[in-house]
Amino acid sequence: MELYDSHCHLDPMRFGAELPDVLARARAVGVTRLTVIGTRAADSEAAAELAAREAGVVAAAGVHPNDVAEAEPDEWDRIVRLVESGRVAAVGETGLDWYRTTSPPDLQREWFDRHLRLAQRTSLPVVIHTRESIRDTLGAIREAARRGPLRAVLHSFTGTAEEAEEAIELGCHLGFAGMVTFRSSSALREVATRVPLDRLLIETDSPFLSPEPLRGKRNEPANVVHTARCLALARGEPLEAFAAATTANAKRVFGAE
Ligand SMILES: [Zn+2]
Repeated sequence: MELYDSHCHLDPMRFGAELPDVLARARAVGVTRLTVIGTRAADSEAAAELAAREAGVVAAAGVHPNDVAEAEPDEWDRIVRLVESGRVAAVGETGLDWYRTTSPPDLQREWFDRHLRLAQRTSLPVVIHTRESIRDTLGAIREAARRGPLRAVLHSFTGTAEEAEEAIELGCHLGFAGMVTFRSSSALREVATRVPLDRLLIETDSPFLSPEPLRGKRNEPANVVHTARCLALARGEPLEAFAAATTANAKRVFGAE
């Protein structure tokens, strides 16, 4: 069985010297593929370096919507340079967050738009964070899609069935994280059972929000196994088939061999 953690943050600040062990633990349980996501220029560059030296790892470069107000003047140029260098497989993470308003909404919109245009210009997928902002996020995706082709991943999806349907109509892939395994998340599990299998991705969003039964601990890519098991069960699919399909989806989205 091969699993793909489609969204994790493995920057040296959070994992440091433990990183080789974290990767080894992931591979030991079949998590052989990772997309490591940047939230600032520095961790985007670190993600690209990790991807260059580790088999099965690709990187995404971007500035997280919660961080755009703190971005240094040269940070966007560093992201563009990295994306244009061909060393990353995706743009992001970007998006809109109306829950944490540490960054002013207009500034978030402007940065989101920049990332969308960069992804379209370079024909790379874009990884999108949306929190209490799904209407505005889908609106921005719709507008971008009018300009030209766009491949978008809505990561850690927590919307309704109707919102999922709308995103799927727009061509998006939906990523489900550990939250979907929580006892209290039966509505979200129900949404996940209705997503067409060819649009579904699984992720840990490490180091955040560990799945059941590991809630409260620092999350790491090996734990995507729990999310896979939970969703395969909810959807009534054999785990092996579910793993194979979600891995194939992520490989297709991120252009991994
Ligand atoms: Zn993330």
